[in-house]
Amino acid sequence: MIGNKIKAMLEDNGDFLIPADRVANVQVDNNLDHALLVLTNIGYTIIPVLDHHGNIKGLISMPVIMKAITGLKDIHFDQLSDLSVSEVMKTDFAQVEEDYELEDVLHLLVDNPFVCVTDDSGSFKGIITRKVVLAATNRLAHEFENLYEVHEKAEQLN
Ligand code: AMP
Repeated sequence: MIGNKIKAMLEDNGDFLIPADRVANVQVDNNLDHALLVLTNIGYTIIPVLDHHGNIKGLISMPVIMKAITGLKDIHFDQLSDLSVSEVMKTDFAQVEEDYELEDVLHLLVDNPFVCVTDDSGSFKGIITRKVVLAATNRLAHEFENLYEVHEKAEQLN
C-alpha cells in the first residue's frame, strides 16, 4: 500500500491523465497501411484502438504490424491494405477505470508503457504514461525530505 504522504505528493501536480482528445488512435476497421502511417507520423510504436462509439478495443503496435506481413523470407507490404487493425491488435492490455487506485497504475506501468483509462461502460477517457508518473516520482524523490523529517524505525526485536 502507498503511504498517504507519498500518495499526496505524487498526486500534488494534478491528474496523471492525458485526455482522450490528445491521444493519437486508430479505429478497429482501419487497414494496417493507415495504422502504419499514423504510427510513423506521430513517432510512437504503440497506440490505442477505438471503435466508432469511442470505446477502447485494443492496442496496435509497429512490431505487431510488421509481424503480420512478414513471411519466412519476405516482407509482404502489399498485405497492409488487406488486413484490418482488428485482426492483429492486442486485446489483452493494461486498463483501469476512472476511479483507479494509484497503486494499481504503478504496478501496471512496470510492464506497460501506458495504461488506458475508461469509464465504467468502457468509454475511452485517456491514458496514463510512464513519463507523467516518472516526472511526479522525480519530484517526490527530490522534495520529500524538504517537507518531512524522516527517522529510521528502531530495529524490531523478535
Ligand atoms: P511516454 O511515457 O511519454 O514515453 O509514453 C509512453 C507511451 O505511451 C508512448 O511510447 C506511446 O506508445 C504512448 N503515448 C504517449 N503519449 C501518447 C499520445 N499523445 N498519443 C498516443 N500514444 C501516446
